Amino acid sequence: MAIKPQIGLEIHAQLLTKTKAFCSCSSESFDAPPNTHICDGCTGQPGTLPKLNATVVEFAVKAALALNCHINERSSFDRKNYFYPDLVKGFQITQYFRPIAENGSLLIHADGRKKKVRIRRVHIEEDTGKLLHSPADRPECAFIDYNRCGIALLEVVTEPDLDTPKEAHAFMETLRNTFRTLGICSGDMEKGALRCDANISVRDTDRGLVTARVEIKNVNSFRFVEKALEYEFERLKAALLSGEKTVSETRGWDQGSRSTVSLRSKGEENTYRHFPEPDLPDIVLERAWIDRIRTTIPELPMEKQDRLMEQYGLTMAEAKTFLDEPELETFFVAAVGQGLPVKAVKNWLLGEIQKTLKERALTIDRTTLTVARLAEIIEWIATGKTTTHIAKTLIPDLLENDISLEQLLSEKGISRINDSAYVIEVSKKVVEEHPEQAEAYRFGKTGLLKYFIGLVMKETKGQCDTSLVQETIKALLEGNNIEG
Ligand code: ZN
Ligand code: MN
Repeated sequence: MAIKPQIGLEIHAQLLTKTKAFCSCSSESFDAPPNTHICDGCTGQPGTLPKLNATVVEFAVKAALALNCHINERSSFDRKNYFYPDLVKGFQITQYFRPIAENGSLLIHADGRKKKVRIRRVHIEEDTGKLLHSPADRPECAFIDYNRCGIALLEVVTEPDLDTPKEAHAFMETLRNTFRTLGICSGDMEKGALRCDANISVRDTDRGLVTARVEIKNVNSFRFVEKALEYEFERLKAALLSGEKTVSETRGWDQGSRSTVSLRSKGEENTYRHFPEPDLPDIVLERAWIDRIRTTIPELPMEKQDRLMEQYGLTMAEAKTFLDEPELETFFVAAVGQGLPVKAVKNWLLGEIQKTLKERALTIDRTTLTVARLAEIIEWIATGKTTTHIAKTLIPDLLENDISLEQLLSEKGISRINDSAYVIEVSKKVVEEHPEQAEAYRFGKTGLLKYFIGLVMKETKGQCDTSLVQETIKALLEGNNIEG
């Protein structure tokens, strides 16, 4: 029996234009005091007329090109009518009948493979104001902030091509990275600059059954999008299996209870009564202008990930990390460019260094580590002047202090132990303390060699030469004569 979710996404991205979509108010709404970036236009006073911001069109076309869309040389605006206190005009200006772009696709990487997700449409619209319900000091009140009202949004609607919540997560991330690379949206979900509505239905392909379509509204992080869809998939699947009737509804993700809750049932789908916006002319684009915009599109995240994999032999996951951490990528490219071995550089950067950076919430460019100093670490290990284990323990210091490895080692009184008598002594003790494992090794579980080496390294705080330890342990386990 095959029970599968079918997922589609609608994403609203706030465009990084200096001013709003149809007036000259600043688009910087998030940190500004409430109702300071407003005018007669974006608060819907009678007699005011909208005037389209040209940069909005340019950004929309950039997005459409990056999403491989067909760009409509003529598109137009419509009014979506509904009453809501955060939308004072009583309608939202959007593109309903003729969007700026349609029929595109975005390539994503999910579960280790590539997948093409079809884009149904991309259109321009305006954002609404923000309501603050029952603040702590005035629980009986609701407040309205119109700063956000009229900020340019780009809405991207996918076909229901996503087969798993993970793919939905990957799509959101790829779209955000693409928009950031284009410089058209900050992608800050926590600030509401990128918002996602996800719709899901679940089908039983054997019995030919399908549940109602549920929409999950305004989820504000990639992780929550995935979690909400996982929850909803299980809920709808259970209903499908038990024969329970499902309803088409809008639900919200409640992080507290880690579940979705019903907000309202659908059926009002066609009550918006869209009609053409009479106050704005059509957008008419010239091919030559579109082609000129096309030349400004930089290397996009997926292209870059492929190139990194190709050029440096990185895995998909490694290339992805560099994509997500541009400072680390810059460092990597510089180090490899200076002739350091790719494998050693990536192992250090994506291993101990990244771990330490994460712990300290730092990016590598804000540390004292330089390519020259990483080169020193790699060189010292390669020539046996120190061990990987020791170097790892020093990474926090090397990120914080502008000090050479040599200086650091002598300051800390760490030396690499090359004293074979000491190594033999510790090795003997370790083998004696683990008779069962020693026995198993002799019976052919040779993989246990690593286990013993690990024990010795732990005992000696990693200061021993690994090859010496390996030799010693091997000899001891295999009963060869060694000189102590
Ligand atoms: Zn305004
Ligand atoms: Mn919309």
